[in-house]
Amino acid sequence: MTRKKTIALVAHDNRKRDIIEWVEFNHHILEKYHLVCTGTTGRMIEEALHHKQGQRTSHIDITLLKSGPLGGDQQLGAMIAEGKIDLLIFLWDPMQSQPHDVDVKALLRISTLYNIPSAYNRSTADYLISSPLLTSEDYVPRIKNYSEYLTRSVEL
Ligand code: PGA
Repeated sequence: MTRKKTIALVAHDNRKRDIIEWVEFNHHILEKYHLVCTGTTGRMIEEALHHKQGQRTSHIDITLLKSGPLGGDQQLGAMIAEGKIDLLIFLWDPMQSQPHDVDVKALLRISTLYNIPSAYNRSTADYLISSPLLTSEDYVPRIKNYSEYLTRSVEL
């Protein structure tokens, strides 16, 4: 049986309208995946998808983490490190610094470290969601070999 892929969705407040529009446009595709979202983004996406699906609300497979600034970004980062996230759509705000900027930076770093296909704007999100690799069983993102780092000698 094929494993259902997990798509993470996060948007800063000034980008929430963008992610909702994107989710509404792509809802037929997104229904096939497990969605993981930071709290507020997830709640808004849930509402948008319920609205789109009418009564078929049971079809939404969505996990809500804590709100981003309250630890949700870090929860998501941990899921990436554990290999539980296949795709990240993270619409961050380039015009405003955030109270949790360090968490934002950490999420960007960890998604790069684990070579997670990641979109930080809508056009890249469009490219990713329409990529044949998304539905391919064979494609597994390569992770750089860190064994040299892990076995380095550390002077005490
Ligand atoms: P939110 O968090 O979805 O709870 O608003 C987004 C973020 O990480 O800033």
